[in-house]
Amino acid sequence: MPEFTRPRHWIDGEWVASTGSEMRDLINPTTEEVLGAIPMGTAQDVDLAVRAAARAFETWSVTTPAERAALIARFAEGMERRGPELAEVITAEVGAPVSISLPHQVGFPLNVLKSHVPILESFEFTDRIANSLILKEPVGVVGAISPWNFPIQLVMAKLAPALAAGCTVVLKPSEYTPLTAFILAEILEEAGLPAGVFNIVTGDGPTVGEAISRHPLVNMVSMTGSTRAGRQVFAAASETIKRMHLELGGKSASVILDGADFEKAVRITIDQAFFNSGQACLAWSRMLVPAHRQDEAADIAKDQAESYVVGDPTDAATNLGPQQNLACYDRVQDYISAAQASNAQLVTGGLGHPEGLDRGYFVKPTVFRDVRPDDRIAQEEVFGPVMAMLPYRDEDDAAAIANNSSFGLHGAVWAEDDATAVEFAKRVRTGRMDINGAPLNLVSPFGGYKQSGFGRELGVYGFEAYLEVKSLQLSGDTEGLKTGIRVKEAQG
Ligand code: NAD
Repeated sequence: MPEFTRPRHWIDGEWVASTGSEMRDLINPTTEEVLGAIPMGTAQDVDLAVRAAARAFETWSVTTPAERAALIARFAEGMERRGPELAEVITAEVGAPVSISLPHQVGFPLNVLKSHVPILESFEFTDRIANSLILKEPVGVVGAISPWNFPIQLVMAKLAPALAAGCTVVLKPSEYTPLTAFILAEILEEAGLPAGVFNIVTGDGPTVGEAISRHPLVNMVSMTGSTRAGRQVFAAASETIKRMHLELGGKSASVILDGADFEKAVRITIDQAFFNSGQACLAWSRMLVPAHRQDEAADIAKDQAESYVVGDPTDAATNLGPQQNLACYDRVQDYISAAQASNAQLVTGGLGHPEGLDRGYFVKPTVFRDVRPDDRIAQEEVFGPVMAMLPYRDEDDAAAIANNSSFGLHGAVWAEDDATAVEFAKRVRTGRMDINGAPLNLVSPFGGYKQSGFGRELGVYGFEAYLEVKSLQLSGDTEGLKTGIRVKEAQG
């Protein structure tokens, strides 16, 4: 049975009482009942954790890549062992259906973690350029701040590369879904991670998140969350010129070109957008279809949306759980109302709870058509199972609509072949696009253009984000200076 009340922070290898006295209840979004509680940390708690991380950095940063790879392998073994427990917690605190908690909410981060073993085995930590020896060193103490929608994945995308690089970490998980982070701490302790390398301080953004962002001994802040909070982290961290990594919101377009397999494209776009109850930064929440085929697209979208089984996430048949919290539920309702008051046409779903689900933050899977590019549901992140279908005239119009967004995180293109889709994808200002329903790649770079943030997570790009580059000019080796080119064979 997992522990749902975690009264202490994890600092310097110990469970430490908060210097504050406030606790926060965690609410189960399916039952609306109190699930457990966590301490609301203080700036003083953050200071203790950061100092512990700074001390631990001295020894962790000089471990060998092989030692760190072995630790990561043990971490992955422990995570695999406790996978069912992690999934149970995710279903309780996020409301994610059991059909996605273990395979996706736990499975994705497990794969992300494992991918750091081969990265460490092959990465070249030194380089030579002419008479210079280049060293790649861990960036230092990392402040990690994560959101509630994929609590393990969005911690792991920071924790795994940070540990692999030789950094130490102070994590503030979301105050809505903090519980799995404590299990990760237990697994890491059992795997032999030295005290102080990984620390957790729970609490809210304006107190704990802000204290992490401002702390002078934190060298890098990596934050995933809303663009609103990202702006605040950016401002606070800029005072001490930290390295910053921001993974923020999205309003991604799935662009269905005329030659695409229409049925497949529309259905997969709905499924991707409604995954995790639409609470995914990478959701394809705008579907762009040729205007002359909008009727056809709307019929398929309606059928797909209405096929969802909404309800108790502990039931294996459910594939759409509740929104994670009441504010999120209210916000989704507000967007649906705004769309109903606009020129957009409701295809299916709409306001209120689905029938028979009066308890829990459940919303109806909803599709609007004839959405205009400047409508609120085409511009703002709804973060719920609400699709905005936008008709376009021709491919130039489709590209302009896709780019008419302050975000640029993800997207999709569907065409008669990959080459046509790739040409279209080049026109869209976004960090990632899937071509004709290609499978998820957890080691290719993930991150945003525009107000979706900056920096890349996952794979070797994500790993390099945790490294500093030092250049040593060697007096006794000036041979390369004659050409000024890289001396490839000299690896230290
Ligand atoms: P949020 O911005 O409210 O919170 C994210 C984290 O930031 C939380 O831990 C929160 O406590 C903290 N925070 C809030 N204010 C802060 C401040 N002033 N200083 C420091 N920290 C602060 O986001 P959320 O509601 O938890 O998550 C949903 C949002 O996250 C959506 O906008 C979604 O698109 C985004 N998201 C982005 C990605 C990505 O990879 N780009 C992934 C998942 C979610």
